[in-house]
Amino acid sequence: MIEVNHLHKYFGDQHILKDISFDVKAGETIAVIGPSGSGKSTLIRCLNLLEKPTQGTIKIGDMFIEAPHFPKKTVYELRKHVGMVFQSFNLFPHLTALKNVAQGLMTVQKKDKATAFEESMHYLSKVGLAEKADHYPSQLSGGQQQRVAIARSLAMQPQVILMDEPTSALDPELVQEVLAVIKEVTKEQVTSMIVTHELNFAKDVSSRVMFMDQGRIIECATPNELFFSPKQERTMMFLEKFAAMSVHDFSI
Ligand code: ADP
Ligand code: MG
Repeated sequence: MIEVNHLHKYFGDQHILKDISFDVKAGETIAVIGPSGSGKSTLIRCLNLLEKPTQGTIKIGDMFIEAPHFPKKTVYELRKHVGMVFQSFNLFPHLTALKNVAQGLMTVQKKDKATAFEESMHYLSKVGLAEKADHYPSQLSGGQQQRVAIARSLAMQPQVILMDEPTSALDPELVQEVLAVIKEVTKEQVTSMIVTHELNFAKDVSSRVMFMDQGRIIECATPNELFFSPKQERTMMFLEKFAAMSVHDFSI
């Protein structure tokens, strides 16, 4: 479903992503972990062409991008098939939960209002928020806002969903409700990549975990392999550091 080959990204003369290659099969959930500044967000943003990759190729579904040249149309096509969930929920403050979800269905997919509302209710139910459909973002908790953002993304029925630290902006007591929703939706036929610091969650939901450091993929393996018998020294050091930080409740 996703195939990335020899991807590089420079910001000016800073080499941020260094020869990234990996693939993600349909239905897989990949957790992306790694220290701050290692390039996780840049990678996710390149996949969605929110950042312009400098060199390399990206294949997502039927779409093929050979950096750095690609037509505007490709960006538009890609965004139709690739959903994004950000750390900040990016909901429209002046629209209700229902209308936030329905908006893309009406404007991008040109569905009529009744159909869009009906489908939106379906996805709001999926994230446990049917009864909050008429609430505005300011009337919802951070966790509920993020669940609306997830419903909005799912409603577009993307081939791939990319999430960049979806729970990092949440108060600790709200993290679990959002992780539970993500766990539930990633069980279904959706291909996803999720950048997260929640290692227990990563272990729980992902088919593979990708560990990044200094712009490279250091190791990409099943959760069992990566967490319990990492092959690379750098992975071990990262995991040890995490285990020592009890706030993250990561025990192996
Ligand atoms: P992570 O998400 O793993 O914390 P990022 O992908 O956000 O890491 O950042 C990787 C590196 O790229 C950092 O050194 C960061 O300063 C740099 N970087 C990210 N975005 C930009 C940008 N728009 N311009 C210049 N440098 C950037
Ligand atoms: Mg980041």
